[in-house]
Amino acid sequence: METLPLEPFKMVIDGINESGGEAFKFCYQCGKCETVCPWNNVRYFPVRKYINQAKYGVVPFESEDVWLCATCGRCPQYCPRGVEIIEVMRSVRRLLVPDGVVPASLPSLRSTMTNIASVGNPWGQDPNERMNWAKDLEVKEFDETTEILYFPCCYPSYDPRLKKVSQATANILNKAGVNFGVLGSKEMCCGESVRKTGNEALFKRLAKENIKTWIDSGVKKILVSSPHCFHTFKNEYPEFSVNFEVIHISQFLFELINEGRLTIKKEYARKVTYHDPCYLGRHNGVYDEPRGVLQKIPGLELIEITDNHKDSLCCGMGGGRVWMETEKNERFANIRIEQAIATGAQVLATACPYCVFALEDSKLVTNHADDIEIKDITEILQEVI
Ligand code: SF4
Ligand code: SF4
Repeated sequence: METLPLEPFKMVIDGINESGGEAFKFCYQCGKCETVCPWNNVRYFPVRKYINQAKYGVVPFESEDVWLCATCGRCPQYCPRGVEIIEVMRSVRRLLVPDGVVPASLPSLRSTMTNIASVGNPWGQDPNERMNWAKDLEVKEFDETTEILYFPCCYPSYDPRLKKVSQATANILNKAGVNFGVLGSKEMCCGESVRKTGNEALFKRLAKENIKTWIDSGVKKILVSSPHCFHTFKNEYPEFSVNFEVIHISQFLFELINEGRLTIKKEYARKVTYHDPCYLGRHNGVYDEPRGVLQKIPGLELIEITDNHKDSLCCGMGGGRVWMETEKNERFANIRIEQAIATGAQVLATACPYCVFALEDSKLVTNHADDIEIKDITEILQEVI
């Protein structure tokens, strides 16, 4: 394993300090982070070793392990010394992508970042097709008369499976009479995975472009499907001295039902278990609203899965992992599928495009294609209103 001497040592330590991760100095190598990290369910991942190396300014340039962290947030909540482990991982990654160039050993991440940089989405799709998901629906472009901006972001705009989530969202909003609009080709990737994979310059560019578009369009309130957009807009975009109201769809649906703006007319006679997405639950404390929506549906029996709320098992897609290859037998979502089936549920519900993507894939990998359905909560609600 190659490490760089002297000057880079200082660079690493300074970089981590600048990223707000200076508490890494207090790590006393207890190893608690490793015992709670989901990677250690599927392979060895010595989290504390990397924290210790960072402490001495050492970057394992040749190791791919530093790209493994899914930034799930589980280890920081158990660390007795308050070490900001995610910030340490992110800072080290920043040093590994100088000038935004991802190492050639990560070809899928490299092409994803190139595509986002050139056309604003991870697949290099035509930005003019970004709104195609809405072509048969009543969805208008945001203008000065619009109350709420719906920001589906990349997966629900382009991916055939996840378009069903943006379409369900639009159908529900229309049923509830919400005055909403979208930005279509003017919308850019939120940049969440860009920042988590160390490309700070590109993140800042995306954030500034999105913010400028919102200001120019008169946006005040933003509704999102993805907990990753939610986290980024709510907690990171304020770094640019802006303060938009940001709401996740699970919170908004709960509000609409409670205010009587959305009437549930049908039963959903199924057993359902709910998977807490890391960036909705652990990172932002939204646990009750998605469950609240499901509990309002007559006939639906909600069963808790093991590893729930703050101990939810990460699907494995955060921290930019969604754009990197993961060995089939090392996917956390495989374990999640088994846990869901063990509850006796017929449906595994969640509230995150990345989770839906990972769980759908793992259902096939684990040969459970016919044993359980994966649904975003919007897809369930759409069926009963
Ligand atoms: S849990 Fe915290 S103190 Fe313990 S080894 Fe991990 S980072 Fe260090
Ligand atoms: S944030 Fe999650 S994936 Fe990353 S090291 Fe901690 S427990 Fe492991």
